[in-house]
Amino acid sequence: MSTTTQTPPGSAADSAKGNKQLSLDELYLEAGHHQVNLGAKKIHAKRIPGKFRNLKWFAASLYILFFIGPYFRWEGRQAVLFNVPERQYHLFELTLWPQDVWILSLALLTFFLALYAATAMAGRVFCGTFCWMTVWTDVYTWIEEKMEGSPPQRRALDSAPWGARKLAIKTGKTLVFLLLGVATGVTFTSYFIDAGDLWRRYLSLRGPVEIWVTPLPFVIGTYLGVGIMREQFCFWLCPYARIQSAMQDSETIIPTYDVRRGEPRGRHKDGDCIDCHLCVGVCPTGVDIRDGMQEGCIMCALCIDACNSVMRKVDKPEGLIRYGSLDEFLGLPVVPLYKRPRIIMYAILLASTLSGIVWGLTHLGAVQLNVIHERQPLYVMLSDGGVQNKYTLRIVNKSDTTLNLRFAVSDLPGAVLVSPDAAVRVAPGRVLPLNATVRMPRSRAGKGSVKVEFHVLDSATGAFITETESRFIGPG
Ligand code: SF4
Ligand code: SF4
Repeated sequence: MSTTTQTPPGSAADSAKGNKQLSLDELYLEAGHHQVNLGAKKIHAKRIPGKFRNLKWFAASLYILFFIGPYFRWEGRQAVLFNVPERQYHLFELTLWPQDVWILSLALLTFFLALYAATAMAGRVFCGTFCWMTVWTDVYTWIEEKMEGSPPQRRALDSAPWGARKLAIKTGKTLVFLLLGVATGVTFTSYFIDAGDLWRRYLSLRGPVEIWVTPLPFVIGTYLGVGIMREQFCFWLCPYARIQSAMQDSETIIPTYDVRRGEPRGRHKDGDCIDCHLCVGVCPTGVDIRDGMQEGCIMCALCIDACNSVMRKVDKPEGLIRYGSLDEFLGLPVVPLYKRPRIIMYAILLASTLSGIVWGLTHLGAVQLNVIHERQPLYVMLSDGGVQNKYTLRIVNKSDTTLNLRFAVSDLPGAVLVSPDAAVRVAPGRVLPLNATVRMPRSRAGKGSVKVEFHVLDSATGAFITETESRFIGPG
């Protein structure tokens, strides 16, 4: 309910009320410019300060790591480098090989599980704060504001006839946008080719065609997606917007308009919503949240900042638009996170994938040994009564140095490794296939298949490096 208080004319309270009135009048004057996104017109959202705006800037600032990442060095090489020709993926101390690519797959799965869990808890919070599209749009519109002015000025410029001023501003803006697209594309490329080398090649205007072609999709995609389409992409094209409802439920907290408190809306109505349209004006996708949850809402919560600022102006409690679940707004009991089956399931899956990653990273060895038992024949009976099995050993040197290795078998009494019987050299990053022969007396060969361990040892020191289990097959 709105309240009216009487203040003596000329008093400080009267003056404050006058100022407030003025700013409310300004709000209503602006309201005509705040348009709901119907797809026909570009959205020029107003920026206002607030805690969710700060959160957005903080999330955006983390992308600085993406741009400076290629320039970190670690033990003489680029700290993060996906060296595709050498089939090595460097992450600071770690070097992953194609055999370890399952760890990267698991990391990707973990990212998606975390995204689903975040959506189940707080809707499209990733879209609103951290999505590449959202962050770049925020940066691009900030630049646009510096070059073209406030939203009403930008709208006026858009609809003005082409002249020297408009041409100069629009050309300048397009060049800055393209430059940012180039910076994005070159940065992406420098995660695949040493950044120093890459810049030397660019500056000498030489180098393979890949270094010129790889940034192109980023330049075009950034310009078209963020510079031109912008919120229309989130609103109409983003596939995630279409599937998010499957991940949310009535317990998911999302930015919501408190319809019971807000209605009937209007400047001189009883509801707390004064119908100033500021929540629409700040919305980067041009959604009117008062119409309920919509697929165009990226849940950036900027409308919460906006409405709270209005509530402060009209001396009403903040939170007319606030984060809350449907259950909470309906007055139903709120179930804590740890009791929600969906969240429990995501937590278990996340714990499993994270454990897999940790296990993988802590078991990365310098050498990988694969042992393949020969199938034809499974075993050979020798003239001296012994039994012989053949294998193919595949040794991968995942270190940066040449290794001298020898081999041994264990876990099978009486078994002798006949070949390879001498040390072998394996160059860094190479895969060496070797034939191996194991023999044992008939009397000890047992029946059927028994376990045998192949060991890889340092040829100079005899130090154990790795082992792999296989089977020894005898008659019977
Ligand atoms: S919900 Fe808040 S910001 Fe939106 S129109 Fe109502 S008072 Fe204004
Ligand atoms: S309706 Fe609110 S939360 Fe949704 S996109 Fe617009 S400003 Fe962000």
